[in-house]
Amino acid sequence: MIKKTFVGLLKPRLEYDILSATHTEPEIIPAPKKVTILSGTSFERSDAVQLKVGDKVKTGQKLVPVIDSEDYVISTVTGTISSISNYTGNFGRAFTSITIDTDDTEEIDEKFGEICNKPDLANAVDFLGSVPGGLPLKILNDPEKSINRIVIYGMDKDLLMTTTQFVVKTRTDLIIKGIGILKEITGIENITMAVPSSLMHNANKTGADVTIIDKEYPSALPFMIAKEVLGDYVPAGRSLEDMGICLISAEAIASLGAAYTEGKIPVKKVVEIVDKDGSKKYVSVTMGTPVSDVFKAFDIKVKDKDRVIVGGPMTGSSIYSVDYPVQADTDAVIIQDGSKVETVSDYPCINCGECVRICPSKIQVNILVRFLEAGEYQEAADAHDLYSCVECGLCSYVCTSKMPVFQYIRLAKYELANAPAEVEAEEETEAAEEENA
Ligand code: SF4
Ligand code: SF4
Repeated sequence: MIKKTFVGLLKPRLEYDILSATHTEPEIIPAPKKVTILSGTSFERSDAVQLKVGDKVKTGQKLVPVIDSEDYVISTVTGTISSISNYTGNFGRAFTSITIDTDDTEEIDEKFGEICNKPDLANAVDFLGSVPGGLPLKILNDPEKSINRIVIYGMDKDLLMTTTQFVVKTRTDLIIKGIGILKEITGIENITMAVPSSLMHNANKTGADVTIIDKEYPSALPFMIAKEVLGDYVPAGRSLEDMGICLISAEAIASLGAAYTEGKIPVKKVVEIVDKDGSKKYVSVTMGTPVSDVFKAFDIKVKDKDRVIVGGPMTGSSIYSVDYPVQADTDAVIIQDGSKVETVSDYPCINCGECVRICPSKIQVNILVRFLEAGEYQEAADAHDLYSCVECGLCSYVCTSKMPVFQYIRLAKYELANAPAEVEAEEETEAAEEENA
């Protein structure tokens, strides 16, 4: 819900949607004819790919697409691999895309079932890295991170969405099981659930400490939750993990509980669909299902200029093709009518200060944006608080000139995060070329 305040004299108040007491169960969409699964590693040469077109796979089977890579995906259907290719995501991020044609009869891969009677971190890391909700098992398994506190968020991070709250409300038993397993496999006892006040009753049942999240945006964003839990901001440039905190979604914890209780890897994700008229429904959908199949199930037609957003309106990403697959962290898909889409402009900043007034991190966004527009990312980080940004998107939302400020910020952080790796890779290639010369 968005409440505009008195003609621009005060900040607009953006409130999170709260799960309705009369919510409906998700509509179950059957496994589609094809799924597409994205693995976090791309390949340079086709002989680096160890899967082949024509390979048969079972539901829950672990697939390692690229030789010598630690990245794996779990097949969410039973079928035959029909294509393997590189895929470029936001900001040029590279993936391997695996398409599987679904068989009529489902077979469950037994490997996880054979070892799940003894839960431990090693087998969780081996099999549960891409369950619905996304478990950050690499972080929990990283000895350099020294995680000593787990915070489970039971509140949706963005506006319009209630998927996470829905999971807390309807899967409390699985969350209780998941927390028990998490304690067993990590040895971490310090577990907090962060929920809106309406879900305090469910959170109390889990035995975790409970923190109430304010209903005003952006209080459910990771850094804001950390502030609530720690009583102070995470210093600029430090991550939650640097502070010993691992943030995990309630759905991921429920998936962990379900995996060890049922002896199989969950492959269905709860997603909230927000239609052009604002109406919403939950679906339970096989991960890897194209967004187009989800829309088809509800007779939602996508026209030219309509905008489809994966995630929420403030922090989500527009997708350019409805072939895009539902992934472990796809909590919502929003479709906006083309006639109502607000486009960004190429007007310059007029120094109105709206972004500065609304920024929860008190950043001089009007100054920062100048360095970002010029591509001076390191200067933006060193001298203009780029890393204090909690990525709420409010600056873009209020920008008088409709500048894509938040997109600049994300791009800058992405470029800086990947710069050392690129430089290293270039140096390695140069060294190899010199050696071969
Ligand atoms: S996204 Fe914009 S408003 Fe939000 S913290 Fe970052 S700079 Fe501030
Ligand atoms: S809101 Fe937009 S136009 Fe106004 S100061 Fe910020 S960046 Fe500039």
